Amino acid sequence: MYWSQKERKCNFELNRVYSKEEFIKLREEIIKQMKKIPYVDKKGNVYEYGEFYPTELSTWAYNETLAQEIFPLSKEKAEKNGYSWCEPAVKNFDITMPAEKIPDNIDNAGEEILKEILGCAHKGDCDHQCSTAFRLTDYELKFYKKHDIPLPILCSNCRYYERVKVMPALKLWHRKCMKSGCPNEFETAYAPERPEIIYCEKCYQQEVY
Ligand SMILES: [Zn+2]
Ligand SMILES: [Zn+2]
Ligand SMILES: [Zn+2]
Repeated sequence: MYWSQKERKCNFELNRVYSKEEFIKLREEIIKQMKKIPYVDKKGNVYEYGEFYPTELSTWAYNETLAQEIFPLSKEKAEKNGYSWCEPAVKNFDITMPAEKIPDNIDNAGEEILKEILGCAHKGDCDHQCSTAFRLTDYELKFYKKHDIPLPILCSNCRYYERVKVMPALKLWHRKCMKSGCPNEFETAYAPERPEIIYCEKCYQQEVY
């Protein structure tokens, strides 16, 4: 089915069985029409036959999708490209302990911190859909204490985006094994400029077992 913007008519019925000949003929017509009257978005981008759906028809804003994790953009850049942007809802939390006051050392955090509404250090000033505040659960506090882990100073959305930042990109690089004398080459998610030492599978296993 193709719905033309200008002609407002649909020349292909869904849920109807077409014969092979009819289908081939209609397909040609649809392709011709999509090339003749392509969809033009607000920014003037032209979408002919063969293009993916226009971004502006998406029901999701750019920063609500995986796109923001893989190709992060600021609000200004996203809007410049014609992508929609979702403003986080204003929550107006009554923060009782701003991020700066959260104890650095887990030993200095007592049970009473469970009652506090903690402020996120990003204060909504980022592109992470920051919720500006968060609370700790009893289980979480016990876990941090048990493992001697400092308390978080970011809300869970911001923590998530900080984690994504250090994750290897969804891209492969062709690299050589860094074990001296090993001739093996392979594809890896670790970019050449990253600081990690990269071994081939064989050298890696010899090293760790
Ligand atoms: Zn946050
Ligand atoms: Zn943030
Ligand atoms: Zn190797």
